[in-house]
Amino acid sequence: MQRCPTCRARVRSEPRCNRCGTDFTRLLAIEARAEMHLSRAIGFWLESGEERALEELECSLHLKQDALARLLRDYLIEHRSIRPTSDDRPAADWFWPSEQPDDIRTSPK
Ligand SMILES: [Zn+2]
Repeated sequence: MQRCPTCRARVRSEPRCNRCGTDFTRLLAIEARAEMHLSRAIGFWLESGEERALEELECSLHLKQDALARLLRDYLIEHRSIRPTSDDRPAADWFWPSEQPDDIRTSPK
């Protein structure tokens, strides 16, 4: 918050507007909460938890329209949409070679 939402005066470090006396305490708390959600989102993003990162970004943007949060959300949504989704093989098939049915289904002799 750089300007008082009531009178547009420049906000200094005081919890109250110098010009009109508006109390910023709750607004500053909301901003701090938005920043907390944003930093959690970045944490999840770094751990590849993109869905949880998106949830945190939505929480952050719900509280404050921050340019970085918006940019990151848009990036994650775009990044998610380019992932191959046409191939319907289960994810495990990418890691294990396909097994022949008699490899695992035959009973011991
Ligand atoms: Zn003011």
